[in-house]
Amino acid sequence: MKWLVLPSIFLGLAMLLTLAGPPAAAPTAPMRDPGMERPSHHTDTGFRNPWPGSSPEHGFKEFFKWRRTRKDGTRPRYGEVVNTLPLREPRWEIINAPGGRLVVTWLGHAAFLIQMDGLNILTDPNFSERASPVQFAGPRRVTPLPVEPDRLPPIDVVVISHNHYDHLDKGTVRRLGNGPTWYVPLGLKGWFARQGVTRVVELDWWDRVDLKAGREIICVPAKHFSSRTLWDRNETLWAGWVLASPDHRVYFAGDTGYSQHFADIGERAGPLDLALLPIGAYNPEWFMSSVHITPDQAVQAHRDLSARRTIGMHWGTFILTDEPFLEPPRRLRESAARAGLSAEEVLVMEHGETLVLP
Ligand code: ZN
Ligand code: ZN
Repeated sequence: MKWLVLPSIFLGLAMLLTLAGPPAAAPTAPMRDPGMERPSHHTDTGFRNPWPGSSPEHGFKEFFKWRRTRKDGTRPRYGEVVNTLPLREPRWEIINAPGGRLVVTWLGHAAFLIQMDGLNILTDPNFSERASPVQFAGPRRVTPLPVEPDRLPPIDVVVISHNHYDHLDKGTVRRLGNGPTWYVPLGLKGWFARQGVTRVVELDWWDRVDLKAGREIICVPAKHFSSRTLWDRNETLWAGWVLASPDHRVYFAGDTGYSQHFADIGERAGPLDLALLPIGAYNPEWFMSSVHITPDQAVQAHRDLSARRTIGMHWGTFILTDEPFLEPPRRLRESAARAGLSAEEVLVMEHGETLVLP
């Protein structure tokens, strides 16, 4: 059974890199150049979460503790949940003629097609079968991709939140290539160049790019980390994105833990019509909470952001962590109801579903 060992090593590795981060490198004290003020999330070797009390992501030791102590009872199993969620046919008649409307189609996990003010935008697209460094092992789709990528309208803009495999997929990047302009956090341009993709704009937190006609893209903070290998932890930045136009403002959070940044984004980049917030990958909380919010925290974030509407994402597509498969949307609904928020204000979509926002 030796042939099984390699895939399980890759699976473990993909999970470790995606959720916990590889073993911590020796901490490097941020060195201050007396003549130049360095942003508090920059370090000598890369980046960090700057908020007070930001606990560091866990390393190998905690990863193995998690794998050793996890309970089998409630944790989803591929065979039990695969193809159990409904797939919706996107509303192509709207997608192909969005007009001045804000149109959002969920492509699973953190991937959305957002159409606003003449722009077709993708967030963290992943068209592959697995969220993994390799396509023969690692977390596999439990809900199929709801669209044939060739049917999508021409994509103008792609925003990437960070380099974890579920958010930055090599096959998808090569497929979309130099068609769209890619907006990425600091440090990722070199990786794109190695894929032959050069229409890439690298931004730091709070950088803005003017796309003319009053449309702009703002790179905003997130509380997370980056890694694609065992030796590149936090060398590239992680971020969220605000897509703004005179008529609409949408915030895509990527992966993030809870912190002050939600209130800051609401204040500095709002008012937000729509927030796309992650609600999955939080169990066990002792291990995940520094880098992934729970559905309850997503509801709190919705309020911190003063968003008019929030859609929960990052669930129901790949099994990455231990929460029961349908718990994220259920907990989101319950938390929202407790907070007095309606099902119009805080909601989840079905895979492939198209929403037209007023
Ligand atoms: Zn991540
Ligand atoms: Zn993720």
